[in-house]
Amino acid sequence: MRNMAHRITLIPGDGIGPEVADAAKRCIEATGVKIDWEIAYAGEEAKNKFGDLLPQETLNSIKKNKIALKAPITTPIGSGFRSVNVAIRHALDLYACVRPAKSYIGVKSYYKDIDLVIVRENSEDLYAGIEFEEGKPETKNLIKEIEKYTKKNIRPDSGISIKPISKFASERIVEFAFQYAQKFNRKKVTVVTKANIMKFTDGLFLKAAREVAVRYSGKIAFEEALVDNMSMQLVQKPHNFDVLVLPNLYGDIISDLCAGLIGGLGIAPGANIGDDIAVFEAVHGSAPKYKGLNKVNPTAMILSGVLLLNHIKEEKAAEKLEEAVKEVLAEGKSVTYDLKPAPNDPTAVGTKEMASAIIKKIKGHPSTQSKGCLQAK
Ligand code: NAD
Repeated sequence: MRNMAHRITLIPGDGIGPEVADAAKRCIEATGVKIDWEIAYAGEEAKNKFGDLLPQETLNSIKKNKIALKAPITTPIGSGFRSVNVAIRHALDLYACVRPAKSYIGVKSYYKDIDLVIVRENSEDLYAGIEFEEGKPETKNLIKEIEKYTKKNIRPDSGISIKPISKFASERIVEFAFQYAQKFNRKKVTVVTKANIMKFTDGLFLKAAREVAVRYSGKIAFEEALVDNMSMQLVQKPHNFDVLVLPNLYGDIISDLCAGLIGGLGIAPGANIGDDIAVFEAVHGSAPKYKGLNKVNPTAMILSGVLLLNHIKEEKAAEKLEEAVKEVLAEGKSVTYDLKPAPNDPTAVGTKEMASAIIKKIKGHPSTQSKGCLQAK
């Protein structure tokens, strides 16, 4: 552990964000790693404080510190923003979304021993935000132009979303997935597309994947799958897979499916990674109906903290924190309602209390030697 404090941006977010952010912050600090948190705002609170859902100060703070821990953010409907989260990823070119899906003893699930990593392309596809609203003059013009070039009819009352997928971004994300597999001793990368139907977008992604895979041949196995079939296979035999690399939209859907395989959104962590900036966040959203109730599960955010600690090379602290989480989950005593056998179980504890139980474990086991700690890169 280094003596100098790490300077890290902390975005408390909204809805349940501040509660899970506080729980994660306390647990990370309990490992003994020195962190100088710089609080920055995004979402509703930023709108109230600065009149902007995503203030430039927040982006500047992340750019300066290079690392952020971000709690979920509500995107107000009709704000003009598709999503503040997507805007952060685009503004900082955090092109790789890494979402490990790992089973923990004590968490209810249909499966045991799941250990998958989803690598989702984060910068383009249908998330590029290029959409044309039904009925607008530009949409009608676009429809005419498309019909002229393709000789295919589009209903005049259609809305249009554009799905750009580039060779550059496809190669970059597949390379990231193979590098990840190599670094963390993973055996196989599966590329997931719908290339049989979307030949020029998903087809391009697949072609890029095949080209990158050649460079790793003999070292890391490579496999191709269609996203519909992959959804079935993940439900039937999830243990057959290792690292999955996908375009943005499929990556989003499949990572929620994989969160379901390990017991739900409450325990699924994530990281958004660029060339020199990384933002760590839970897969789940701001669950506004639970805001301020001290009720939701802080594990996903705490495990995002494990990914963060590994990323800043505080591996011992990361192991210690993950080990403490594992113990609390396995005991099943000081856990939130979603981890109890029934949601109204009177023995469920609150967000704060679950974090305190994890901290108690950290303090009780100062030097844990765990294997296979969660990694983001
Ligand atoms: P959500 O993930 O916020 O909540 C869906 C349901 O999952 C909740 O009602 C709850 O039952 C459960 N859940 C989520 N987190 C939990 C936790 N930590 N512990 C226990 N149960 C938990 O998804 P949503 O309702 O679709 O979205 C709400 C808001 O969050 C929207 O504004 C959306 O845009 C935003 N969102 C933000 C992010 C992000 O910040 N990265 C991600 C997804 C959604």
